Amino acid sequence: MSDNFFDIAAACFPADADSSFIELESGRRYSYRDLMEISGRYARLLAELGVAKGDRVAVQVEKSAEAVFLYLACLRAGAAYLPLNTAYTKAEVGYFLGDAEPKVFVCPPGNEAALADTAKGAGVGNLLTLGTGGDGSLADRAAGLDPEFDTVACAADDLAAILYTSGTTGRSKGAMMSHRNLSSNAATLHRIWGFRPDDVLLHALPIFHTHGLFVATNCVLMNGTGMLFLGKFDPDAVFRLLPRATVMMGVPTFYTRLLADPRLTPEAAAHMRLFISGSAPLLADTHREFRERTGHAILERYGMTETGMLTSNPLDGDRIPGTVGFPLPEVSVRVADEKTGEPVAEGGIGVLEVKGPNVFSGYWRMPEKTAQEIRPGGWFITGDVGRIDERGYVHIIGRAKDLVISGGFNVYPKEVETVIDGIDGVVESAVIGIPHPDFGEAVMAVVLRRPGAAVDEAAVVGACREQLANFKVPKAVAFVDELPRNAMGKVQKNLLREANKGRFGA
Ligand code: AMP
Repeated sequence: MSDNFFDIAAACFPADADSSFIELESGRRYSYRDLMEISGRYARLLAELGVAKGDRVAVQVEKSAEAVFLYLACLRAGAAYLPLNTAYTKAEVGYFLGDAEPKVFVCPPGNEAALADTAKGAGVGNLLTLGTGGDGSLADRAAGLDPEFDTVACAADDLAAILYTSGTTGRSKGAMMSHRNLSSNAATLHRIWGFRPDDVLLHALPIFHTHGLFVATNCVLMNGTGMLFLGKFDPDAVFRLLPRATVMMGVPTFYTRLLADPRLTPEAAAHMRLFISGSAPLLADTHREFRERTGHAILERYGMTETGMLTSNPLDGDRIPGTVGFPLPEVSVRVADEKTGEPVAEGGIGVLEVKGPNVFSGYWRMPEKTAQEIRPGGWFITGDVGRIDERGYVHIIGRAKDLVISGGFNVYPKEVETVIDGIDGVVESAVIGIPHPDFGEAVMAVVLRRPGAAVDEAAVVGACREQLANFKVPKAVAFVDELPRNAMGKVQKNLLREANKGRFGA
């Protein structure tokens, strides 16, 4: 057995290949035999297309069982799986393809015509399609192939995936994840969250992000059990399926939405063993309210794309609202001074730095960015500001870099500001996150116009819609005569946030 994460996970698959792996809302079931056969055919097709170890396979498809099989096929073929948010626009996809130079790009059948030029322009040799019903050219071409496929042996350090995270400069960075990164994190989470042979995971997260892909799906694979697979978070479906599930992983928005629903009762959650939250701060109030309504203390954990999961509240022990728990086994977390990198005094506030087998190997083709964010001793600078209390619980205080997290997705202000600043009549803009009862934070733009310019809210929103994924588009726009600045000329976003904090009623 090699260190290929697929081999490690496959060693945990159930003896009975007919056991369920994925069950869709429609009731359609995919067994572990289906997993092996479909991923085997897809891997064979990739190999026939010339995909070799380390080659990238970029994928922008809707969530489906087939998309999971494609992820596994990439691992089996030794390729680097590169999932892209389905909300990314053509221009954004063009950037990713140009940067990553994948050998294959897979999109939904309906987008093929629109993306053909983009793929060609980026030099991608193979454009294939995959639909949610197992349709599309990839599935068609794989259909007649032999499902037996010898998984390509990989070393622990070999590249398994590239996940793009936006940069504050607006340029996205591809976090290179190795097989070790995936397997160490999956084994640890599977263990510390006490997965059992009868667990059923309710999966309502997107699978282009570390949370839904590596945390949720990989835990299920390591457990050799099944998941109830929703296309997206939908309270009706969640309430229908909770009586059959035992574990749910979600972003805080899931929990606030469930709380807003009268169907959330102790009975509705009676079959559940564990509710887990992450990707954005879970308000302590949400944690308390959820406990009052259901009897369940949500287990909050913290992680990021570049590092996988880093900390978790305990399965047995106090899950403290407003904290993200203890560093995971094998993961070291320290609090350092942002400028000097020196560890701060015990209990002090600083930037969280982390080290461990889960930490990525660097940013794709950006050695200088990698060097800026990983210290020579291997400590990765998360950019999150926090502290560790006397009991060892990690608290996240804020983000060093003004990142906005809306509905669990990262929005880097600079990227939105660049679009707004490009509108005729706009002098400059500042994009901030404002507390929002549903999204956690909502994007807001504060805009300075040229005197007499006719730019209005519709123009700002319209320009953003055209060029950016929907979740990055401002939900509010305000026009000001000047932006507040400090003595160094930097815009004081904290003042803008303060002035607008009640805007969405959170
Ligand atoms: P991403 O790379 O998209 O997973 O985003 C990672 C960032 O999300 C982290 O650096 C944190 O700022 C934030 N984050 C993730 N989990 C939590 C959490 N439980 N509480 C607060 N922030 C979190």
